Amino acid sequence: MSDAYTGGCACGAVRYEISAEPIFMNHCQCRDCQKVSGTGHGSYLTFPSRAQVKVAGQATHWDTVADRGNVKTRGFCPACGAPVYLTFAAMPDLFTVHAASLDDPGRYAPHVVTYSVRANAWDHLDTALPKFEKMPAG
Ligand SMILES: [Zn+2]
Ligand SMILES: [Zn+2]
Repeated sequence: MSDAYTGGCACGAVRYEISAEPIFMNHCQCRDCQKVSGTGHGSYLTFPSRAQVKVAGQATHWDTVADRGNVKTRGFCPACGAPVYLTFAAMPDLFTVHAASLDDPGRYAPHVVTYSVRANAWDHLDTALPKFEKMPAG
């Protein structure tokens, strides 16, 4: 098994360590991700099991309701404001982190683009990536 995925917020108050490989890596161009990232999309790695995740420090949680009515909780640092992770009420095992929160963001290798229907003309992503207008079915 490869090294754990480690990372955290911009100031270091919130840290995580994940002893698993991501099952999904995506750029998301939905309006929520635009607002939270401050630019054209969010970039995420999703891990399969909360049991393999350790979080140190206390993130502030903010709930939003996604298109399908599922509650999505965003964890961000109360000191520096950086977004760190997301969890999903309907899929409680999943744990998603923001790509740039990784200590080594080079480990992010996106598979797909989601919510391309919301893309801004100026937000160019790798044209080789499959694009989904919303989220892939599942
Ligand atoms: Zn911070
Ligand atoms: Zn999104």
